[in-house]
Amino acid sequence: METQYVMDVNSERILPHVDAAAVKSNDSDFILQTYGRLPVTFVKGSGMTLWDTEGNEYLDFLGGIAVNGVGHCHPTVVRAIQEQASTLIHTSNLYYTEPGATLAKKLVSVSDADRVFFCNSGAEANEAAIKIARKYGKSNGRADKFNIVTAVRSFHGRTMATVTATGQPKYREPFEPMIPGFHYVPFNDLDALSQAVNDETCAVLLEPIQGEGGVYPADQEFLDLASSLCKQHDALLIFDEIQTGMGRTGKWWAYQHYGVIPDIMTVAKALGGGVPIGALLARGAAATTLVPGDHGTTFGGNPLATRTALAVIEAMENEHLIENAHAMGAYFTERLRSLGDKLSDIRALGLMVGVDLTEPDAKRVQSEALRRGLIVNAIGDHTLRFLPPLIVKQPDIDRAISILASVV
Ligand code: PLP
Repeated sequence: METQYVMDVNSERILPHVDAAAVKSNDSDFILQTYGRLPVTFVKGSGMTLWDTEGNEYLDFLGGIAVNGVGHCHPTVVRAIQEQASTLIHTSNLYYTEPGATLAKKLVSVSDADRVFFCNSGAEANEAAIKIARKYGKSNGRADKFNIVTAVRSFHGRTMATVTATGQPKYREPFEPMIPGFHYVPFNDLDALSQAVNDETCAVLLEPIQGEGGVYPADQEFLDLASSLCKQHDALLIFDEIQTGMGRTGKWWAYQHYGVIPDIMTVAKALGGGVPIGALLARGAAATTLVPGDHGTTFGGNPLATRTALAVIEAMENEHLIENAHAMGAYFTERLRSLGDKLSDIRALGLMVGVDLTEPDAKRVQSEALRRGLIVNAIGDHTLRFLPPLIVKQPDIDRAISILASVV
C-alpha cells in the first residue's frame, strides 16, 4: 500500500498520513502487550523533533532511550542507509564484508579494546560478555570459576542470562529459576564487593552509571576496587556501556572519566542511531577467548547495520557531538537547578541526567510534559531521566526547562 502524505499547516512539513486509531487498535489486538504505551503515535522525526499523527511537534529529551544520539534522521545516516541498502544489505558471517571490518577498526581506535564482536542489541552484547567470562573462567581447568558479580539496581537486558545479571528482582521473579552463579552487591558498597569477589569469580559486570536504575554514577573507589579485585582473582572486568557509551557522558566511554579500563565493554543503543546493532569490545585475553564455533549470530555485523554505525560516528566527529554533550550537559544541569526545591537531587554526567522530584510525581510530569510537547522519561514515582540527542543546543534546553517549570 502506498503511503499517503498530508501537509502540516503549522510547520509546512510533509507528514505521512497515519490513522492513529487504527494503529492503536492493531497494536492492542495483535502485538504482545509487553509495553504500556503513552498515548501518542509518532510519524516523523528530524533532529531534536518528532511529529505525531495530528502534526503536533515534540522536543525529544529521551532520544529513543539513548539511541538517537545524532538526532532523528540525520542526513549523513539516512544517506548511508540508502546507499548501503541499494548496494549490499546482508550476506552472512561466512564471508568477509567491508563495513563491519572498517567499523571494528574504528571502534578499536576510539577505545582501549583490541577486537570487536558484532550483534544486534544490548542484551546480546551482554550475553556474549557472559559467555566469554564463563569460558575464560574455565580455561585453566577451573570448573568452579563461573560466578559473576553484578550490582543491585543494575539493568543488563531481558534474555535469560542478562535478566539474571540484572540486579532488580521484579524483572527476574516471573522467570525463575534463573541461570546459576550470579551474585549481587549494593552499588558503590566497597565491603560487599570485596566479600563477593573471590577465586571462583570469573567476572564483575557493572554499568559505570546505572541508567534504568535511576542514573546513579559509580564512585571512583568502587570501580578502582572492582578493577583491582578482578586482577587479584583473575576475573574479567566487564563494563556495560550500552547506555553510557557513544559520547553521551562527554567522553567516548564513561570508563574514560574514571581511568579504569575494562577487559570487556558492551555497546548498543546509540551505535546504530536506531538501526539495531550491538557490539562487544574486548582487550587482552578476553579478545581471544572465543574461537570459531563458540558463538555467533546471523545478522551480527551485517553491512547495513555496520555502515549505518560508521555514518553515526562520522556525524558525531564532524559535528563535535562529544564536546557538545559535555558542554550542553553542564548547561542543562545548571538550568535544572532553576527548578529549585521541586527537585531533591540532580545526578548527571554529560547528557545522561537524572533528577529526583520532591513529590512522587514523575509519572504525572512525564504525561503532562508530553501533552505540552516535551518527551522525558519517568523512572518510578520520584525520578525523571533525560537522554537527549547529543545535537541538543541551548535554545532546546531553555524550551525544555520552561515546559518542565510549568509542569512540576
Ligand atoms: N544494558 C543497559 C545498561 C541498558 O540500558 C539496556 C537497555 O536499556 C540494556 C543493557 C539492554 O539493551 P537492549 O534493550 O538493546 O537489549
